[in-house]
Parts: sequence; C-alpha cells; structure tokens
Amino acid sequence: MSVQLDSIISLSKRRGFIFQSSEIYGGLGATYDYGPLGVELKRNVKESWWREMVYRHDNIEGVDAAILMHPTVWKASGHVDAFSDPLIDDKQSKNRYRADQLIEGHIDRLKKKGKDDKAEDVHQRLVAALHADEPAKELYQIIMDEEIRSPDSGAFDWTEVRQFNLMFTTHVGPVADQESVVYLRPETAQGIFVNFHNVRETARLQVPFGIAQIGKAFRNEIVARQFIFRMREFEQMEMQYFVKPGDQMEAYEEWREKRLAWHHGIGVRKSKLRWKEHDKLAHYADAAVDVAYEFPIGWQEVEGIHSRTDYDLSRHQEYSGKKMEYFDPQSNERFIPYVVETSIGLDRTVLMLICDAYREEEVNGEKRTVLKFHPGMAPITTAVLPLVKKDGMPEVAHQIEDDLRGRYNTFYDEKGAIGRRYRRMDEAGTPFCITVDGQTLEDDTVTLRERDSMEQVRIDKSRVVEAVTDRISNWEAAE
Ligand code: ATP
Repeated sequence: MSVQLDSIISLSKRRGFIFQSSEIYGGLGATYDYGPLGVELKRNVKESWWREMVYRHDNIEGVDAAILMHPTVWKASGHVDAFSDPLIDDKQSKNRYRADQLIEGHIDRLKKKGKDDKAEDVHQRLVAALHADEPAKELYQIIMDEEIRSPDSGAFDWTEVRQFNLMFTTHVGPVADQESVVYLRPETAQGIFVNFHNVRETARLQVPFGIAQIGKAFRNEIVARQFIFRMREFEQMEMQYFVKPGDQMEAYEEWREKRLAWHHGIGVRKSKLRWKEHDKLAHYADAAVDVAYEFPIGWQEVEGIHSRTDYDLSRHQEYSGKKMEYFDPQSNERFIPYVVETSIGLDRTVLMLICDAYREEEVNGEKRTVLKFHPGMAPITTAVLPLVKKDGMPEVAHQIEDDLRGRYNTFYDEKGAIGRRYRRMDEAGTPFCITVDGQTLEDDTVTLRERDSMEQVRIDKSRVVEAVTDRISNWEAAE
C-alpha cells in the first residue's frame, strides 16, 4: 500500500501528534507544534539517539549550546556568504520557486517519458551549475534553454534567479541597527566546533572523540509545503567526531554503518532505507552520503554523514585568532583534527517513523488504521481497559495501571465499547492493551492484546509488567 502524505497529516492532527503552529490565527507557514502523542514519539527518538551516541561510546560527550551565537561564527562557517537558495518567481502567478527544484522536476518528467539521455544531460548541467561561481546565472540559463514552465500557471514568464540567504536575523540589545544583528542558528554543528576546546579539556578527551548535541535550528525555507519534512523551525541531532588527519575515512565508514544500524534498530523497514551518494562534494568535504527514506513524496534525505576535513576548525582558528590545534601525546604532534559528522533531523525522523508505521487494514469487513511503531518508540506503551465501568473492574484496572506506570507510559480508558477502544489504541500505535473483564474477578487473569497480530492471551494480572517487558525485548521489526 502506498501511503499518502494527506492521510499522515490528517491522522497526525486527529490523534494529537502534530498541529499547525498558531492554528487559530490561520497558522504560520512551515512551523508545527507537537501534541500529546507527538511529543512522546519525539522524546523517544531523542532518547534513543542520545543513548546510542553518547552513552554507548565512552569517547562521546554532549553539549547544549545557545541558539544565538556571535555573528562572526556564521562568517567563519561560510553561512553569511553561501547559505542561500536560488529563487525564481513566476511573474504571472507571483509564486516563488527554487530554481534547482524546478530543474529537478523537469529531469523527473524527462525520465518518465523515457528520455533518459536527455535527463542525464540536464542533470549534469544542474550539478555543474550548483557548483559554478555564479549558480544563479547558470540555473536561469538551464530554465531558459529547457523552456521549463511554471508548475502552477503553466506560464513561461520568469524573473531572473536570485540567491536568498536562509538565515533568520534578529537584534541583540535595544538598538536595531546593523551592529546588533545576530542570527538564529541554521544548524547545531557550529555550537560544537566553537566549544571544541571547552569540551575536550573539561571531559579530558583524546582524539578520536565526539561531541553530540540535540537542539533547534532555523531556516527561512522558501518552498516548504511538505508538512514536517521541511520546516522553518526544526530540531537536529548532530555529532561531530574529531580524528587525526588521515584517519577520517575509517571513521567515516564506521559511522555510516553505525547510523544505518540505528535506523533499523528503531524499527524502520530495511526495504525503505537506502544510501544516497552525493553527486558532487562541497569544496571542503572528502566524502558524504545521505541515509534516504522512501517517504510518500519520494526518496528523501533523513540524515547526512559527512567527512568535513579540518575546514570548520581551521576557519574558526582564522576568524577568532584562537588556536584550534590538538596536541597528540602519543605522536608528539600538533594538528587541527579532521571531522566526520552525522547530522539527522529529529522532525524528519518522526515523520519517517509515522509514515513507516502507518497501515490501513481490513478487519472483519471494517477498516482499521494502525501505527505499527517499534514498542520502544510508541508514544503510549500500554493501555489498561476495564471491560465495563462496574463490578470492581475499574479498581483492579487502576492497580495494574499503577504497576505499569512505574515502567511505561500507560493510558487508562474505561469509556465506550471495547472494540472502539482497541481501534483508538491501534491508531495511536499502542503495542499492548490489557483488559480487565469478568473472569479477572474470578481467577485474577487479564487479557493481553497485541496491536499487530490482534491476538489476545490470558495471563495472571501479577505478570503484566513482566509479560510486556518480555515482548518488547523479543520484538521483531517488520521487513
Ligand atoms: P535538504 O537538502 O533536505 O534541505 P540539507 O542537506 O540542507 O537538507 P543538512 O544541512 O545536512 O540538510 O541538515 C541535516 C539534517 O537536518 C537533514 O538531513 C534533515 O534531516 C534535517 N533538516 C534540514 N533542513 C530541514 C528542514 N528545513 N526541516 C526539517 N528538517 C531539516
């Protein structure tokens, strides 16, 4: 079954995963709020990433840097000069497009028509244009030569292509002049680079070592109509790994494998994940690859693994005047470490998990919508449901609920028909429902219903926590 993004958006709102930001005022474009289920899912992803990156490695430590940084950070990093998208306007509809994406759309259409050679030609021109001295001019020329029309109006009536910087600015202090401009960080990585010595010294780390961070990033994205796939305010989970020059390829290979294994470990189907090699590397990088997932909008990047050489630390050394070198006590050498980074979008991972878990199934002639999350990721792990709201069933159910709450996020629900309650839990992705019924009062057993198979087994009520824990540790992800 191919999932439509609209079904995901509507379920997300209906069940309280994700809402449009400032909805009662008509919303603010490409910004979103997480509801009760969404916030739990997001926390589980964050915790899994932190455990995997920081707790599992004795040479990786965390930081939590400020969103506002000294403006020179962004000059050194290259963002002030080069963090921009090429934009073009349709003069008829007044809609604005990213020139490179218009060309990509054109390439896809050529491929669909079987014109593979032509598609390859245009692709090569696009890659060259993106790395040219004046990308705007080159991109404009491709659009002209290929006579690419506007997707909305069908017109061929374009403005020139202009570069538009994606960083949001604001001002520090009471005077809003040029001197007081600061940026909302467009990535978390720079907070790690500028703290390189602080973390290394205080945590007494020796190369190779890593610094990890989870935090908000902001980009004034122009084309942002794909739900939480592309947001203006989002969260990143990044880790910069500092190695001796020459050791970067080994670290790069190692992190590629480790990161893909993490995606599998949080339950994403292997068939929906693949590597996407970069067509052409950034001038400072010596290797780069993306983990791509098959979203309803196609194969798209979720995470990047990049070998960035000593570019960032060298630039900070140049702009700050502070040495960014490391003294290696083994070889008695001084060097600026090379960096391999893993950079993943938290919100994009949440979207990937919802898309991957989403199923519509026929059960006894009825449609059931179910989110088949890995139980370690599911927003609610267990639901306790007394069959009816009388005969002492709620009391027993509350006791079980109390036991479970010590370990798992648990939901209690005593209202409505049991079948409907199960369906609600299926839609929330709750892997286990525990039902207290008439028999419980006679023999102290309850039913444990599994979300995916919908099988119900009777177990002793004193064994509920143990049975849930067993099932979670023996969980087998779908292929
Ligand atoms: P894209 O090509 O999709 O714009 P990017 O290559 O600019 O992404 P990076 O700068 O490498 O992305 O950022 C690392 C990760 O941060 C991405 O893999 C993605 O998961 C996430 N990310 C980047 N931009 C956004 C955004 N606007 N909204 C949500 N997540 C984002």
